Amino acid sequence: MRIPFNKPHLSGRELEYITEVFENSTAGNGIYTKKCHTFFSEKFKFKKSLLTTSCTDALEMTALLIDIQPGDEVIIPSYTFVSSALAYVRQGAKIVFADSRADQPNIDENKIEALITSKTKAIVVVHYAGVACEMDTIMDIAKRHNIYVIEDAAQAINSYYKGRPLGSIGDCGAYSFHETKNIQCGEGGLLIINNDKFLDRAEILWEKGTNRAAFYRGEVDKYGWVDTGSSFLPSDITAAFLFSQLEMLDEITKVRLSIWDTYYDRLKRFQDSGLIKLPLIPEYSSNNAHMFYLLFKNTEKRQEFIDALKEKECLSVFHYLSLHKSEFYKSKHDGRKLENCDYYADCLVRLPMYFKLYGEELEYLLEQVENILESM
Ligand SMILES: *Cc1c(COP(=O)(O)O)cnc(C)c1O
Repeated sequence: MRIPFNKPHLSGRELEYITEVFENSTAGNGIYTKKCHTFFSEKFKFKKSLLTTSCTDALEMTALLIDIQPGDEVIIPSYTFVSSALAYVRQGAKIVFADSRADQPNIDENKIEALITSKTKAIVVVHYAGVACEMDTIMDIAKRHNIYVIEDAAQAINSYYKGRPLGSIGDCGAYSFHETKNIQCGEGGLLIINNDKFLDRAEILWEKGTNRAAFYRGEVDKYGWVDTGSSFLPSDITAAFLFSQLEMLDEITKVRLSIWDTYYDRLKRFQDSGLIKLPLIPEYSSNNAHMFYLLFKNTEKRQEFIDALKEKECLSVFHYLSLHKSEFYKSKHDGRKLENCDYYADCLVRLPMYFKLYGEELEYLLEQVENILESM
C-alpha cells in the first residue's frame, strides 16, 4: 500500500463557490475575500486580517509595516523556513539567528535577550508544528526593549497560547494556506494586524500603495497613490477556494488530532524505551495537529528509518536545514553555534499527516512504523 506524506485536503465545495465568483467578479477583495475576512474576525476576533497570495507575502508586508531599514537587526530562529527571514533580508536587515529549545523546536525564549542590541528592530517567532512559543516571556522582552514581535504562524491556524489564537499576540501575525498546511487553497496566506498603528497602512500596502479600500468604503471621494506597496491581495477565486476549507476548519482540526493521538498512543513505548522522542506540547499551548514528528538520536538512525519506511512505500520526510548554515547566509552569520537547531535539522522526521489518513491506510502505516522501530 502506498502512503504519501501529504494529500492536500479538498472540501468538495471549491468549484461551487468559484462558480459563484465567476458570476460576480474574479478580481481581488471581492465577495469571498470579504467572507474570509469576516470568518477570521468572528472566529478568532482578529482586529484586522488581510488575505494575501502567500504567507511569504504577508511577512513581506510586516517588513514594510515595521519599516525595516538597511542595518536593522531582526532576531529569527534558525530552525525555520526561508520565508521567515527572507522578507526582512530583502529590506536590508541583518538576521541574528536564535537557537531552538532543547525539548522542542521552537525558539528558546531564554536565549533571545542576549541577542538584543541597539539595532534590534524585531523578533520573529515561528510556532513550529502549530505549537505555541512562550509568548508571555517574548512579549515581555519586546516591551522592555521597545521592539516589535512578528508571529510566523504559517502552521498555526486554530492553535492557541493560553487560550489566545496564535497570530493575534504579536504586533502582526501571518498564516499560510499553502497546500501542505491544515487549511489550503494551493497558494495563499493571511496577514493579521494587532497593533493599531498599522491598521490603515496595511490596507494601503495591500492595494498597491493606494487608498482604494477606503474609497470603496466611501471614506475618501477619490483614490490615488499614497504610499509604497504591492499587489499582495489574491484573486477572489483563491478566496472562494479558501472559504470552502475554512468552513471545515474545526472538523479538519479534529480529524488531524485523532490521527496525532493515534500516533502518540501507539509509538509512546518507543519513547519510553529511549529509542526516539515524540513531540512535546507545553501546557501553555494547544495542538492543531499540523505535524507529527519523531526525533532520532542521530542522523544515521533517522536515515535508516526513512529508508526502511520507503521500502514499504510509505513516505516520511525530514524538515528544515539550519538557515545559519545555508549557502545564502552562512558567510553573513556571526559564527555562533546553534546546537539545538542543528539537532532538529539532523534528527527530526515527519510522518504522513492528512485528513484522509484513516482506516486501513493508517493501520498499515502504523504497523510498518512499529516493525521498523522494533528492529532498530
Ligand atoms: C509554509 C511556511 C511558510 C511559507 O508559506 P507560503 O504560504 O508558502 O509563503 C513560512 N513559514 C513557515 C514556518 C512555513 O511553514
